[in-house]
Amino acid sequence: MVLSSGNLKVHWLLRRPARMELFKVVDAGLHTKMVGESMRDRRIGVYVHIPYCKTTCPFCPYFKTVLRSRDEVEKYLRAVVSEIDVYGRLLEGGGYEVVEIHVGGGTPSLVPASFFKELYEKLSEYFTLKTNIGIEANPEDLTSSEYTGELYKNEVGEVSIGAQSFNGKVLKALGRKHTVEDNVRAVENAVKAGFKWVNVDLMFLPPSIRGYVEISPEEGLTIFEDDLKRALELGAHQITFYPTIIPRHSPGFKLVEQGRLAQDERLVDKFVERALDFVENKKLRLVRVYSISREQYEYATVNLEMVGPLLGLGAGAWSNTGLYQYINVHDVQSYVRLVNEGKPPAVYYRSLEKSTIAWRALFDQLSSGVVKTRLFNELGVEKIPYSIRAFLELATLAGLLEKRGGDYYLTRKGVVEVYKSVINYVAEIPVKATMILEKHSRQESMPDKIVV
Ligand code: SF4
Repeated sequence: MVLSSGNLKVHWLLRRPARMELFKVVDAGLHTKMVGESMRDRRIGVYVHIPYCKTTCPFCPYFKTVLRSRDEVEKYLRAVVSEIDVYGRLLEGGGYEVVEIHVGGGTPSLVPASFFKELYEKLSEYFTLKTNIGIEANPEDLTSSEYTGELYKNEVGEVSIGAQSFNGKVLKALGRKHTVEDNVRAVENAVKAGFKWVNVDLMFLPPSIRGYVEISPEEGLTIFEDDLKRALELGAHQITFYPTIIPRHSPGFKLVEQGRLAQDERLVDKFVERALDFVENKKLRLVRVYSISREQYEYATVNLEMVGPLLGLGAGAWSNTGLYQYINVHDVQSYVRLVNEGKPPAVYYRSLEKSTIAWRALFDQLSSGVVKTRLFNELGVEKIPYSIRAFLELATLAGLLEKRGGDYYLTRKGVVEVYKSVINYVAEIPVKATMILEKHSRQESMPDKIVV
């Protein structure tokens, strides 16, 4: 078995049917009305998607495209700036504060550093900015201290480096082009440049590929432990750890079909347990079930995706106003065309029912390690649904949560189960949704409804 689509064995209390119905945006006017009227809070997040990569990795689950020309990238960046104008004009004067700006991809570190300053200045024309920018970066791009310094001077305050491992065998198995030396230099440069926060992404459960690069489970665990230590020694403020998901639509899945790729998804528990030991031994904090931090602070690309409001800009971006979720077209050319025609690039949406809002809020809180019941109220859920109250009591009885005061804290056992449930969700919904949305976005006529 490989980790492809929600097949991890999770505690029965956390197993929930994952299904999402999305409807085509047929009325641009109605869409802008919904955005204007359904912002849950005045404090909003902004996410910008840069879909370009130099080459593509064999197991990549994200929406991306190979960089063909700088000219194309420039047109794309112009369209992103114009999209800010669309939503900025709609929300201007509403007293909105931007509390986080994250740029993900793809590879945001492929674009000129000056773009980030432009992004910052454009957003500040419409909103009060309470933050600087966080970007995901490819280690190769940060090996240049000149570019890293440029980022710092252009309003980038946080970086998340996609190192994945400090072991050459793992990088080879993952098909990554960067080297261990690139990873080391990138983290050192980022720390030296003075960014407020440096996160290092680490990937565990690497595939073992027969006749190419074989990694035993024991070896994988030892490498993971070494990787955690190395990232910390290099000065990273945070480490985000996640398993290699092998999406069915990725080119790497062919190796599974040929019977050459082995990955035992049952080992996820052991890797998470190792990470928890590391947190305890080094006296660190677990700010999300998948993020280890030196302080109670976290870099999270789409922090507000679960509860909103999050304004997603660029091709393939998801937005959540708190009551309404919408998704931009997953095709670069169509995105640029729609924005240049003055149309919103949102192509699918769904309205969020109170019970959906409550369950999303619950999972968001569970992943942070504590469920504060008063927070439901702040999200507009006046009465916690009976199903959630029952879940909290049963999860406490099952030893997944511990009740203190009016709040519920994840136990160690709870962390492992919630971790697996998050991975199941990611493999089941966003990864699958990206595949379906990419396919439909390339078609002339998109279906009125899609089910993920
Ligand atoms: S894994 Fe990252 S760098 Fe590789 S293709 Fe996907 S988005 Fe690009």
